[in-house]
Amino acid sequence: MSRTPDTITSWIDGQWCAPGAHRLPVINPATEGHEAWLSEADTAETDAAVQAAWRAHQRGVWSGLPSAERAAVLRRVAALTRTHLDELAALECRNSGLPIRYLRQRQLPRILRNFEFFADWLSQNTEKAGMQDDAYLRFVVREPAGVAALISPWNAPLALASTKIAAALAFGNCCVVKTAENTPLAVARFMEILAEAGVPAGVVNMVNGRGAVTGQALVAHPLVRVVSFTGGTATGRAIAAAAAPGLKRVDLELGGKSANIITETAVLDDALDGALTSIYTNNGQQCFAGSRILVQRRVADEFIGRFVARAQAIRVGDPLDERTEVGPLSNLAHWQRVQGFTELARAEGGQLLCGGDRPAHLDKGYYLNPTAVLMPGNDNRVCQEEIFGPFAAFQIYDEFEEALQIANASDYGLVGYLWSNDLAQMQLAARRIQAGVVLVNTPMLLDLRFPFGGFKQSGVGREGIEGMRHFYTEEKTVTLALRRPAMERLGLGG
Ligand code: NAD
Repeated sequence: MSRTPDTITSWIDGQWCAPGAHRLPVINPATEGHEAWLSEADTAETDAAVQAAWRAHQRGVWSGLPSAERAAVLRRVAALTRTHLDELAALECRNSGLPIRYLRQRQLPRILRNFEFFADWLSQNTEKAGMQDDAYLRFVVREPAGVAALISPWNAPLALASTKIAAALAFGNCCVVKTAENTPLAVARFMEILAEAGVPAGVVNMVNGRGAVTGQALVAHPLVRVVSFTGGTATGRAIAAAAAPGLKRVDLELGGKSANIITETAVLDDALDGALTSIYTNNGQQCFAGSRILVQRRVADEFIGRFVARAQAIRVGDPLDERTEVGPLSNLAHWQRVQGFTELARAEGGQLLCGGDRPAHLDKGYYLNPTAVLMPGNDNRVCQEEIFGPFAAFQIYDEFEEALQIANASDYGLVGYLWSNDLAQMQLAARRIQAGVVLVNTPMLLDLRFPFGGFKQSGVGREGIEGMRHFYTEEKTVTLALRRPAMERLGLGG
């Protein structure tokens, strides 16, 4: 069946399902207008999606293809995504509120790079065999893990879901995708692109719905072997617990409250660009946001003054407008939560430096002016909780050691940023910051050759070629005796 234009349903075995009984509205956060309906997959429909993936896995319709053919399909996905980039960007923009310019130039081109990356990897990867003494030939066979559940959030819907799909496919798996229930539009269109590129029916399926309904049914399904999840820390805990009885492998890419340390030796112009980028791009909704900005006292007035002036000059508005730098937050409840931190900051002794309100020229949409507060210390909710919006919390420190301690005084450990020209400080930051990613004099760089993931409450596992290879495959060690081994000889009497 072709897709009902107004309703996103499940994509199972290469087909759109008929709409089910329960539907949810899909809203455009910039206009608050209705974009589409989403038909929620219940347990039975989720089961049908997993069964389709399982059948495809059992029949080897994907893993059984020669690696050159699989690589060619991945390359076609990249090429078709390039052809449809404007269409995908427009869908993503209308559904997520992310600025079109950012989607076109940065976020969606990552999809092409990721699929090409895995195609290259597939065409070049070989496994090694090893000798144990000269008695045994031993080698490791890597087999696809089986059916993978790929669950992703709304802050970068297609970029995050497609990275997981690319990795699952590269390692021969079949999968069921569940993106966030409020942002299914671009991911749904991507299902058709995958099919057009030659991904066989049943290999990638998609279910939609709320976490507590569709998400839970997917994680609990006995035929799902691995669960790759990107989202909030509390949800990650629930997913790990739900996966535990089936001893399913989980990869959890969770929240953050990353410190961005600005030292007096930094090139302040660069640090300023980096700090603004790290907190306000992607509408402030990014896991690796440098949301706690720690500035050394001797440069604090200058740095904070210039930061606030630039934050106030950021173009907030219609995400479909090419000039827009920051669009609306994802949904009303999220807007209320993020905005609520302004009042909380005041109550916790902080000072509002800018923002905290809706832009005067925008009367519809979940817009919030880029916000910054100066907090008296690190031990308060504004500095401890992930806000996940265009909301920077400044703190001032005196000695570098103090900055490192503040950076680590967090339940999270996703990223540590440092702006400094002092080699000793760079080395100390690299060694001491408790985070999966440390970035010195640069904003975030994503590159699948290197691991990405969190310490502490920011996650379990790493996305990056090695981590994904372990996650999406089972290792099997095969031993061939090259001569008769010494063995016990039971039952011969004597
Ligand atoms: P969320 O945890 O509420 O939802 C993420 C996904 O999980 C959605 O598809 C949701 O429907 C599903 N879900 C919710 N409950 C579930 C359950 N019990 N079982 C199965 N699935 C369930 O997260 P969100 O609010 O959509 O996203 C924001 C969070 O994601 C932030 O905390 C952010 O830091 C994090 N994030 C992390 C990374 C990373 O790489 N570390 C990247 C992007 C976003």
